[in-house]
Amino acid sequence: MEMLLAGEWVDRPNKIEVRDPFDDAVLDTVPAATVEDVETALSAAVGGARIARDITTFERSRILSAVAEEVEARSEYFANTIAREGSKTIREARKEVSRCINTLRSSAEEARRIHGETIPFDSFPGGEQRRGYYERIPVGVVLAITPFNDPLNLVAHKLGPAIAGGNSVILKPATVTPLSAIKLTEALLEAGLPKDVLQTVTGHGAVLGDALVADERVRMISFTGGLEAGRRITTRAGLKKIGMELGSNSPVVVWKDADLEWAAETCVSGAFWAAGQNCIGVQRIYIHREAYDRFRELFVERTRAYRIGDKLDETTDMGPMITETEAARVERWIDDAREKGATVLAGGSRDGALVEPTVLEDVPNNATLHFEEVFGPTVNLYAVDDLEEAIEKANSINYGLHAAGFSRDLETAYRMADGLDAGGVMINDSTDYRLDSMPFGGIKNSGLGREGIRFSLQEMTEPKVVCWYLPGI
Ligand code: NAP
Repeated sequence: MEMLLAGEWVDRPNKIEVRDPFDDAVLDTVPAATVEDVETALSAAVGGARIARDITTFERSRILSAVAEEVEARSEYFANTIAREGSKTIREARKEVSRCINTLRSSAEEARRIHGETIPFDSFPGGEQRRGYYERIPVGVVLAITPFNDPLNLVAHKLGPAIAGGNSVILKPATVTPLSAIKLTEALLEAGLPKDVLQTVTGHGAVLGDALVADERVRMISFTGGLEAGRRITTRAGLKKIGMELGSNSPVVVWKDADLEWAAETCVSGAFWAAGQNCIGVQRIYIHREAYDRFRELFVERTRAYRIGDKLDETTDMGPMITETEAARVERWIDDAREKGATVLAGGSRDGALVEPTVLEDVPNNATLHFEEVFGPTVNLYAVDDLEEAIEKANSINYGLHAAGFSRDLETAYRMADGLDAGGVMINDSTDYRLDSMPFGGIKNSGLGREGIRFSLQEMTEPKVVCWYLPGI
């Protein structure tokens, strides 16, 4: 496929192969953009910002509705692309497509709701003959950098609100999964988005990143990805808005009075969705000691029933990790935990990029699997005696995207909701729940700012005050 640069679909002699991580088949190639291409994208985006700003609210909303229709009409085409280039099974990919449609529809709706308010200038002496208001104006050029694990919906989470807010966008999708992003770009153009409003630049973040991020023509960076790249971007960005959606190591607390069957069922899904490559995936579960054995039994039983393998097979529950290198990393972390005293209750081995869904107990605090984001299909179980201890341990890691608590007792559940430090706390559900229109984002090393259409729109627009001095009134 080609990339969209300065209104043209272009190729480059230097190409990047996009492979299916399950069978290593080459699906397609994309151009490896150069730093010169970045300059072309930046200057085109400045022109695009002037065009985007002048698109009427009605037209922005119409384009976004039309692209939602287009994605819906071709759901299976998009689902297949997600399932082939990434880690998701076809069933998981279909869910991502339906969420993407919702993200685009919500963006179309929110485009019509951008408004400011009047300002009571006469509320302080000297303002008697002044009248005015503020409106929300586009920031200009938004740089959107996206990860591999939701290659369609996380792109829509940036393009939808950016277009709704009247901005132009430079999109840099993950190098391993650029095809969904390019297909969404095509659908946006078919829906009537003026070409110059969007630049979709494919290529390595390590090569293109600094030139994109540091440039003053970019007025906002909306980044979703890992902590390491996030840190590098924030140090190079200079004076511009930054939205950071980073990783996590999500904790769950399961109390003795909880519905253990449901807690086990939803946490197994939350731990192994997309082979655990999910920023809100369950990683640590603290269980009341009296419920520990039963919960462990339920959890292990459900984990062992998981079918792993071919992503396109309708019966497969979990596919491979995104690369064999990543799978080998997770295997090393499992071995490290074992060597430090952990017991593997289920799974624990690897075949190429396929890592078995793995459940561990007695994982010590100095094991990487305990304190780092695993971003793979492993989960740690811990027994705890009291709620304060559970909450303190859950909060002890320097991430805070989502946390969850299970209890049938109102006060226990309230103490969980109140005490767990995270951008979102799910009660009687796993950490892996997100409505695309809710405010979404993390505290601590999990990020800066919030996504979720209305909240992204606030970040991607800024207030402009207009004050009228009318001496005759
Ligand atoms: P990643 O390695 O950080 O890459 C994310 C994006 O950043 C890719 O497009 C990558 O390009 C680009 N990039 C890398 N280095 C860069 C640089 N120096 N300057 C500019 N861009 C750069 O993350 P990933 O492995 O794709 O995704 C996994 C991570 O994303 C996990 O930590 C996960 O928790 C996080 N995540 C967070 C959320 C959230 O909403 N909070 C959602 C999903 C995922 P290349 O692909 O070319 O390297």
